[in-house]
Amino acid sequence: MSDKIAYVLDFDGTVTTEDLSTEMARYFGGARFWDIENLYRQRKIGMRGWLDGMSSLLPADMDLLLDFAFERAALRPGFIEFVRQAREMGHPVYIASDGFGFYIRPILDKYGCLDLTDTVYKNETLPREGGTLQVKTPHRHLTCPVCGNCKANHVLRLKNDGWKVIFSGDGSNDRFGASWSDRIFARDRLAQFCAEHGLPFTCWADFFDLLRADQGEFASVVKPSPFCRPEAEGYLK
Ligand SMILES: [Mg+2]
Repeated sequence: MSDKIAYVLDFDGTVTTEDLSTEMARYFGGARFWDIENLYRQRKIGMRGWLDGMSSLLPADMDLLLDFAFERAALRPGFIEFVRQAREMGHPVYIASDGFGFYIRPILDKYGCLDLTDTVYKNETLPREGGTLQVKTPHRHLTCPVCGNCKANHVLRLKNDGWKVIFSGDGSNDRFGASWSDRIFARDRLAQFCAEHGLPFTCWADFFDLLRADQGEFASVVKPSPFCRPEAEGYLK
């Protein structure tokens, strides 16, 4: 069947134009932001290490942090039209975020999109001793140390349930979920990764590109990703 299609979307820098978690960490973290960011970019720590380090730089003042997120949050053009069409066509839309996550539902709600998305898979934040935040990762892989939220597992679970999965993202960490999907819409660092590693992908600028793309004819690929095994040991390379 060509019409059993599900979308898995990253949130920061994908649904929104800015990466709100990174902006928050940069703003409150000062010079320490770059210590952690550089370790992440050099792949010396994974996303889980990034979240742990950066959350310790944020004040545990959720009103302040939500205000910060709302001030900077802008939906990428076409998102509202996209989720409306997906709902009309019976294509579920899942958000899978590996950021701080607490602002996702409030932002979607503000723009009237929360009810048009099916599930938001995200990390949880709570106060840490000393007045900063900590991040809990309920969707992590049991043993893999890399991601906080195992996007690859969300994609694989949908595929095992018979869905063709379209993945859309922007960050290098999206490579794991993208590599398990049937079709990739990539921009920024995800596009760079796909190009460097020979993963077929479609470049996208905004959600009108997803609306315009022909999504009826593509095969569901059941091919293990060379980058991770969510059903086994997790991270490979
Ligand atoms: Mg992102």
